[in-house]
Amino acid sequence: MTLRVGFVGLGAIGRPMAVHVATHFETTVWNRTAERARAFAQATGAKATEDLGALVASADVVITCLPTSQDVREVVERIGSAWRAGQLLVDCTSGDPGTSRAIAAWLAEHGVDFVDAPVSGGTSGAEAAKLTVMLGGTSDAVARAQEVVRAFAAKVVHVGPVGTGHALKALNNALLAINIQASGEALAALVKLGVSGAKALEVINASSGRSNVTENLIAERVLSRAWPRTFRLALLDKDVGIALKVLQDTGVPHDAIGVAKKVYAEGRAALGEEADHVELIREIERAAGVEIR
Ligand code: NDP
Repeated sequence: MTLRVGFVGLGAIGRPMAVHVATHFETTVWNRTAERARAFAQATGAKATEDLGALVASADVVITCLPTSQDVREVVERIGSAWRAGQLLVDCTSGDPGTSRAIAAWLAEHGVDFVDAPVSGGTSGAEAAKLTVMLGGTSDAVARAQEVVRAFAAKVVHVGPVGTGHALKALNNALLAINIQASGEALAALVKLGVSGAKALEVINASSGRSNVTENLIAERVLSRAWPRTFRLALLDKDVGIALKVLQDTGVPHDAIGVAKKVYAEGRAALGEEADHVELIREIERAAGVEIR
């Protein structure tokens, strides 16, 4: 029998992930703005529903991809008694470990398994079905989740118990955040000294300071002045906040990530909720009085 999947959250990354799910499994989608779910159904042949209870009734596995774990908790609790024992919730949100453990405990009382399954690879990775997925949960639940997430993944890793996928994702994104900030500051200084952005990247990318930010993001988004909006800075600020809490909870020094939290909170306040994460460099350019070109 074909596995039936319910997909909740057709945002910038959720939508392309759901496209691949819909090509492999019998899929029903729900989105807060219902028009997006209807358009998705028309484009893909999946079913759309405005009723979360109906979505759960029609699914063996439910996938959520929402901004925060709090949004997931609200959806899970709104579904309430419509959950059936034996179902599985795979949460692809970049969430926080504590709330995920609480959601997992709530679902367990209804006989439902929970796996945190955040993704990396961005919207282009989602479109190409080449995401990396980090899974937190029991071995049995993770084995079931793997069957579904393989629809949009190139790499799937079981990293530990519930919450560890979300911890790893947040810390990975904190490293991304620090790389964006530090690369923007370094390049702004070099441009002021008369070194072009392209020449600076040519050297850095053949040296030890390189990262995905210098190898890809800055050339594609900053030097080009294209500034595409694929991953909101507000979501990266949320991730850095989760990472900071993980470090505080585990008793680990958090100087670098603490500074990044302050910088991203300020960038979010200045640039707004819709700005892309790389637009933090616009703030660095503004403060430095230079454009990185
Ligand atoms: P978007 O902001 O583009 O989309 C958010 C989605 O969640 C929309 O479908 C939105 O519905 C829905 N939503 C928002 N609030 C609620 C709510 N309170 N209740 C129900 N639905 C809600 O986010 P992304 O798709 O970019 O990100 C989703 C998750 O994936 C985040 O946790 C993010 O950190 C993570 N992520 C994103 C990546 C990216 O490149 N974009 C990369 C890796 C992870 P509506 O259509 O009504 O607005």
